[in-house]
Amino acid sequence: METKLVSVDNFLDNKMNYEQAVDILKNGGVVAFPTETVYGLGALATDELAVQRIFEAKGRPSDNPLIVHIGNKEQVSDYAEAITEDADKLMDACWPGPLTLVFHKKPGVIASNVTPGFETVGIRMPDHPVALALLRALGQPLAAPSANRSGKPSPTEAAHVYKDLEGLIPLILDGGQTGVGVESTVLDMTTNPPTILRPGGTTQETIESIIGKIHSENEFPGEQAPRSPGMKYLHYAPEAPLFIIQNDAQHIGIALDSLHAEGRKVALIAPDEFGDLGADWYFSTGPAHNNEATATNLYAAIRKCDATEADIILAVETDLAGVGAAVMNRLMKAAEGKRYMN
Ligand code: AMP
Ligand code: MG
Repeated sequence: METKLVSVDNFLDNKMNYEQAVDILKNGGVVAFPTETVYGLGALATDELAVQRIFEAKGRPSDNPLIVHIGNKEQVSDYAEAITEDADKLMDACWPGPLTLVFHKKPGVIASNVTPGFETVGIRMPDHPVALALLRALGQPLAAPSANRSGKPSPTEAAHVYKDLEGLIPLILDGGQTGVGVESTVLDMTTNPPTILRPGGTTQETIESIIGKIHSENEFPGEQAPRSPGMKYLHYAPEAPLFIIQNDAQHIGIALDSLHAEGRKVALIAPDEFGDLGADWYFSTGPAHNNEATATNLYAAIRKCDATEADIILAVETDLAGVGAAVMNRLMKAAEGKRYMN
């Protein structure tokens, strides 16, 4: 299959590109498109065969549910039941935006393979002009996970999608680099209080300022399987092993010296202030102590390591404030929990 990459990131008349995307989607195909978090791979959420194509293109385990994307808040009641007052408040304050709300599913509307084995459905309204234009032109909901091969970092540029999915999907809408850079926060509204199943672009602080204290999944340490099944798979993994390292120039310097003494080549993912410490490759996550910038730049930096000959990747940790919680969650997965100790 030929993969077409078309730009929708300017003031040209994009009508034909959207028409082409809608045509593919209505015929049960998949299309990659930008959202404010990462690029998504969409298919009609009501069409089981179309949704199946997402799992095939991504190589995604079939027990990992997909998020349903809508173009208007009003659509939520077409697919979800028992929408609480708190959910209404969050939708008013945070949509469109990087917040997925998990509701009880209305039976018989969304294709069963979108939420395999679940009585719930995760829904969000993305805050990106291309995603919204596509959803509104289509007039139907899109099931859309991140548009990467399963296990790879989520794509924050159309070129990342092309690299992973060339030959596997017919069309990529290129809307430039995404802004937030990490995926949406997944908030389970069926528990009381609601529970963060995955930290993401909408911060816990923001959510709590709107509806008060909530739970976060890691406050349930005794629980067997994570309730957001996606969290259990290998994720965001570069080719070389990645270790998280403390945000400290001296510590990083010593690590580089000892790795070099062992003859190992090192790629460093770190804020601008650590650019001159002598790593063999250095990829910036932006200004120091700026968790938003780190989120924006993290996945592209991890992907860039794959184009190097690094034997080991060191990635500098952030604090957990704001979107730092999501950054550290993703880094922990990319590192499979490993930290570099001198
Ligand atoms: P992705 O589409 O790659 O951003 O992944 C979606 C994430 O949302 C995964 O971690 C899923 O497990 C999670 N998710 C989606 N729908 C639900 C749901 N109904 N209940 C719990 N988690 C969900
Ligand atoms: Mg994903």
